[in-house]
Amino acid sequence: MSNQTSATEKNLDAIVVGAGFSGLYMLKRLRDELGLDARVYETGSGVGGAWYWNRYPGARCDSESFYYCYSFDEALWQEWEWSSKYPEQEEIRSYLDHVADRFDLKKDIQFNTRVVSAHFDEVNNLWHVEMENGEKVSAPFFISAAGVLSSANVPDFKGLDSFKGDWYHTGNWPHEKVDFTGKRVGLIGTGSSGMQSTPVIAAEADHLTVFQRTANFSTPARNAPYTPERRKEIKATYMETWDKAHASHGGFPYEPTQATTTEYSDEQIQKALDGVWAEGGFKFLWGSFSDLMVSKDANKYAADYIRDKIRGTVNDPKTAELLCPTDHPYGAKRPPIDTDYFETFNLENVSLVDVKKSPIVEVTPNGIRTEDGEYELDIIVFATGFDAMTGTLLNIDIQGRGGETLEHKWEAGPKTYLGLQVAGFPNMFTITGPGSPSVLSNMPVSIEQHVEWISDCIESMRDKGQKVIEADPAAEEAWVAHVNEVAEMTLFWEANSWYLGANIPGKPRIFMPYAAGLPAYRQKCNEVAENNYEGFRLSA
Ligand code: NAP
Repeated sequence: MSNQTSATEKNLDAIVVGAGFSGLYMLKRLRDELGLDARVYETGSGVGGAWYWNRYPGARCDSESFYYCYSFDEALWQEWEWSSKYPEQEEIRSYLDHVADRFDLKKDIQFNTRVVSAHFDEVNNLWHVEMENGEKVSAPFFISAAGVLSSANVPDFKGLDSFKGDWYHTGNWPHEKVDFTGKRVGLIGTGSSGMQSTPVIAAEADHLTVFQRTANFSTPARNAPYTPERRKEIKATYMETWDKAHASHGGFPYEPTQATTTEYSDEQIQKALDGVWAEGGFKFLWGSFSDLMVSKDANKYAADYIRDKIRGTVNDPKTAELLCPTDHPYGAKRPPIDTDYFETFNLENVSLVDVKKSPIVEVTPNGIRTEDGEYELDIIVFATGFDAMTGTLLNIDIQGRGGETLEHKWEAGPKTYLGLQVAGFPNMFTITGPGSPSVLSNMPVSIEQHVEWISDCIESMRDKGQKVIEADPAAEEAWVAHVNEVAEMTLFWEANSWYLGANIPGKPRIFMPYAAGLPAYRQKCNEVAENNYEGFRLSA
């Protein structure tokens, strides 16, 4: 592929942003299978993406390790030994480091480099990309592998600058251990990050105060080290694991759940829920009944079940009631899975503060002041989530045809065709972008599907002598309408979740991921490709 640039600009075939699961595999496909001169630019000093940044205490995966990984190379899958069901952050980061070394990827990754702008040049069909350090590169293809949960959200609390202690965000955690010994710690946020870090911080701190705005559903992880027998069993299931994962709604290798609660008696439903509760993890949501996310009645069975478990675990009835979610259906917010989260509130050194009833007013030099009073703290942990799905892309100055900015284009919420491309932004691809199953699925499965679709598309363009691919605005409009239509059939609308952008003040309320499940989505993407990339405009 040829292109023209200025003398100071390095000239490539493809520019990839981010060296996590997506960026590593994208680089491998582009470089090793298509023979392109591709390069990854990464802000961090190592590979890992989300698993590079999220080093907070207790950070671990909540999909099981043997399918929260790549499937594209059986030898890689067979040779890597996971320690346990749900490995810690450092183990996943090491796995990705191993992948990068095994396929000699690091030589084409530039670390410590933040991409700040990407402008499309219509005359030469090139993306001109600039880094924070002033370095410039260009390429016909610009691919975001920047992740969907990588732009940390630190609420704009008055007085944070005046705080005399230390504060951290879980998604941007220091590389050195934070010592909580003897400290009074305040933790804001009860999503996955907050629920995972609470028991670990509580075990070390003098006192932990959890500031809860919304009580959250969670199921027990039931993490355990793999025994040699279990490992052997898993290793014999490569084909079966991935066939099942690809066939399932969420990319998990469970038998697809066909049954709805309406087909069973109350006793049978309780028994089935006992079973998935005992197994732990996401099986409760994705491996039980197929109507949990579409029927309020079905959802109530699961929600009541979890509330009963919370009441049965937490000794103080008032605290237990405060920890019981009542304002949204189970699963409508991305449910965490936990290890001893609710049990932690039985400890003497842990207290819970309801900041829905008495909101946080300010951070003071000595702690946090709510409408009820001041809590003195030495350390504040923000487990307050991310500007999800769009934040990271919108932090880059991206300009498409006619200098239109992505920020302007997405003013009223993200618009994409298939979550893969944005009309007006030719040759730009977004791996697991808004409008694709993305965060509603086991991410590595969705990532592989997108990476393979994108590299097949670029290969097909090369074979046909096509230089530019761009989503058709009408196809994009129709896709956005379809994504919304599907979401409206679910209970996802019933919660103020980050899926809807509701966690960021002023962000448009749009359901961002595609909720129809991976098989339907994969089929649609395959059909589009088979029909000459229907819905895209291709030109020489
Ligand atoms: P999150 O789910 O968005 O949770 C953020 C928490 O902070 C919520 O409880 C939120 O309350 C609270 N919060 C935000 N702003 C606040 C404010 N101004 N005042 C008081 N409370 C505030 O974020 P997260 O826990 O980092 O998780 C984000 C996603 O990352 C997860 O859903 C998951 O997809 C992924 N993740 C995965 C893993 C894993 O695989 N193991 C681990 C961690 C995260 P409201 O609910 O009221 O908004």
